[in-house]
Amino acid sequence: MPENRKISIVAPCYNEEAVLPELFQRLGAVAAGWGMEYEIICVDDGSRDRTWELLKQQHDADPHWCSLSFARNFGHQVAISAGLYHASGDAVVVMDADLQDPPEQIARLIEKWREGYDVVFAIRQKRKENFLKRFCYWAFYRLMSQLVSFEIPLDTGDFCLMDRRIVKWLNAMPERNRFVRGLRAWSGFRQTGLVYERDARAAGNAKYDFFKLLKLARDGIFSFSTVPLTLMAQVGMWISFFSFLGILWTLSTKMFSGFFSRHGFPPVQGFTTIVIVILFLGGIQMMSLGILGEYIGRIYEEVKRRPLWIIQDNAGIEPKIPDLPENPAKAGSGGQL
Ligand code: UDP
Ligand code: MG
Repeated sequence: MPENRKISIVAPCYNEEAVLPELFQRLGAVAAGWGMEYEIICVDDGSRDRTWELLKQQHDADPHWCSLSFARNFGHQVAISAGLYHASGDAVVVMDADLQDPPEQIARLIEKWREGYDVVFAIRQKRKENFLKRFCYWAFYRLMSQLVSFEIPLDTGDFCLMDRRIVKWLNAMPERNRFVRGLRAWSGFRQTGLVYERDARAAGNAKYDFFKLLKLARDGIFSFSTVPLTLMAQVGMWISFFSFLGILWTLSTKMFSGFFSRHGFPPVQGFTTIVIVILFLGGIQMMSLGILGEYIGRIYEEVKRRPLWIIQDNAGIEPKIPDLPENPAKAGSGGQL
């Protein structure tokens, strides 16, 4: 029966002092209604404000709340990964600490889990963010779904519930540039979505600046698709083809200049053409090198095999050294290895 199962909530927090009191109150209130054992793991991603102090106080007030503190800012996706790694529940819910993912929706996710789904992700129906951000998200999810070879649900973020079966596999994935929602979709299992309205942030400012969002988008694309490499080769091929025609043309006008002049094609002066061609090809080459660099950088990150995070403090939960990958078969995930 579900009632003797346990649920873990993972909430990454980065400079969230303004929002935490409301999170404690709202999440605490709904958790009592789930009718099952629960733990709430907040991962302090190297905050510089009073976040860690508030998290420790909350653990003292209510031991359901436990937290880990990173030695520096490792990023949202790493904080989620650490939370998943430490969660002990039969299912784990990932949510933002800023209450954009309303805690009141978690009961709906649990309901679907009880129906037998392994992953229940929340689909954002309406966003309360500015037009440009909404458009970028919209375009990104559509581009990504074109580029990857597995089915990735549109407009879903990290807000979801995952059964332990899939959490074990995520913990076993050793990659450094983690795009958790992609890894989740890639894993398969029985997945379903629930539509919800994404609230505006309850307090404080967004912690994702433009560059962090761009990094997230790049991780999404380059960690899951090699289509950009193929595109690069194709663009190169077409350019070579046209260049070959150009070479033929230039050589023949040179060799048969008398004939061409008589037919209205005087010899080309050439300077502008050369500059344009050089700049154009230079641009394409730089772009191609950049794309290659994205992949090589990722290989470099992988081979270093540094731990994904470093924990400096903990409240109510024993920090585990992230010796990824954990062997999911050894951990008893059903022996699918
Ligand atoms: N966050 C984090 N580390 C970071 C940036 C953000 O743990 O480096 C957390 C943040 O505290 C919040 C969640 O990730 O709980 C989402 O961040 P934010 O609300 O800034 O992003 P947005 O909702 O604007 O995409
Ligand atoms: Mg937010």
